[in-house]
Amino acid sequence: MSLPSLPVRERLSEVRYEIRGELARRARELETQGRTLIKLNIGNPGAFGFRAPEHLQRAIADHIHRTDPYTHQQGLPEAREAIAAHHVARGTPHASPERVFVGNGVSELIDISLRALLNPGDEVLVPSPDYPLWSAATILNDGRPVFYQCREGNGFLPDPVELEALVSARTRAIVLINPNNPTGANYPRELLERIVAIAARHNLLLLCDEIYDSILYDGHGFVPVAPIAGDAPCLSFGGLSKVHRACGWRVGWAVLSGDPKRSAEFRHAMDLLGALRLCANVPGQFAIEAALTGADTITPLCRPGGRLYEARRAVIEACAASPHLELASPAGALYAFPGVVGDAAEGFDDHGFALEMLETEDVLIVPGASFNVPYRNHFRVTLLPQPDVVREVFARIDRVLDRRAQA
Ligand code: PLP
Repeated sequence: MSLPSLPVRERLSEVRYEIRGELARRARELETQGRTLIKLNIGNPGAFGFRAPEHLQRAIADHIHRTDPYTHQQGLPEAREAIAAHHVARGTPHASPERVFVGNGVSELIDISLRALLNPGDEVLVPSPDYPLWSAATILNDGRPVFYQCREGNGFLPDPVELEALVSARTRAIVLINPNNPTGANYPRELLERIVAIAARHNLLLLCDEIYDSILYDGHGFVPVAPIAGDAPCLSFGGLSKVHRACGWRVGWAVLSGDPKRSAEFRHAMDLLGALRLCANVPGQFAIEAALTGADTITPLCRPGGRLYEARRAVIEACAASPHLELASPAGALYAFPGVVGDAAEGFDDHGFALEMLETEDVLIVPGASFNVPYRNHFRVTLLPQPDVVREVFARIDRVLDRRAQA
C-alpha cells in the first residue's frame, strides 16, 4: 500500500513564477543533452558577463574580517546610514537609519513588507503586467492582488481613474514598479502625483519598487515617489542587484518614509519580522556604502555606445523592421516586452510560442502571461546580451513568426 503524498500549501496553486518555471526546466534538460541555448529569461547581469564594480568588490574584501557575526536585523549601521543619506539627498521625507531595512535582496523585503501589512482578505493594487513576485507574495501572505491595467496603447502607464475605481474597503496598498519590469515604462511626475493623491485619499501604503532607478535611456529621468508622497506612508525599495550588477550578493533595502507617527506600528512589525530571520547576508552589506557614495558605473552603460543602450537599440530596430512585432520602446530597466501582431498573431498563444522558440530555435524567452496580463500575444526578453546576440535572437523570432504567418 502506498502512503499518501505530503500536503502543500493550497494557495500555492494560485502562484506563478514562470521566469524560472517549466520552460527554464526544459531548457536545462536540453542543455544536458548538449544543446547551446541563448537564455533571455532572467535579468541576471552576471550571467551575461557583467561584473559588480571593483570598488564594491574591494569594500567586501576589505571588511571580510568583520563579516562573521550577525548584524542588527535591520542591517549594518553604516549601510543604513548610507541608504538614509542617499534618500535624504533625493528628498525622501523623514528618512532615517531607524526606518531603513536591509534584506536578502528586494525579494525578501517584498515578502516581509506584505507580511507586516496584510490581514486575511486584504487587497493590494498590483500593476498588470507585474513583476510576479508582487502578486505571489500578496497571495502567500493571505492577501488578494487586484490588478490595475497598464495598457500598451498608453505606453504601459496606468490610468489613475481606473486605478482608483478598484479601491475597496479592503485595499491596503498600491504597488508601483518604476522604472518597470517587464515593460520598461518610466512614470512621469504628474502621473505619480495623481497616484500619490489616491493613496492619500484612501489611506493606502505606497509600495515603490524602484530597483531600476538609475537604469534609464535617451534622457529619461527617474522620479522617486517618496518626496512626492510627503507625509503619506511610503516604502521605497532599492538594491545592488541591477544598478550595481550584483544579483548574487542578495542585497536590497527598503526605506520607510512619511509621518513617523502614522507608520510606527508598521515599522515595528517590519523590525520584528526582520528579527525572526536574524539578519541579511553580511558580506554584501559592506558594499552598500561604497555603492551609494562611489562612482556611477551604470549611466555609461545606458548611453549611446554603452552595452545596455546598444542592446536596447538592437531590440528596437529589430522590432521596427519585423512585420510581426510591435514594441513600446523601453525607457528604462533591463527588458523589452514586444507584442506579436498581424497574421502571425492569429490564434497566438504566448506559451506555445515560447516553447517553440526553445525547442526549434534554442532561445529561451518568457511568455507575457507570466506577468499576469489578460492577453496572450506578448513576450519578454532581457537587454543584457551583446547587441549581436540580440540581432540573432530576433532573426530567429522572425523566422518562427514568418512560418506561423504563412500557415
Ligand atoms: N523587483 C523587481 C521589479 C525585479 O525585477 C526584481 C528582480 O528581477 C526584484 C524586485 C528582485 O530583486 P533582488 O535581486 O533584489 O531580490
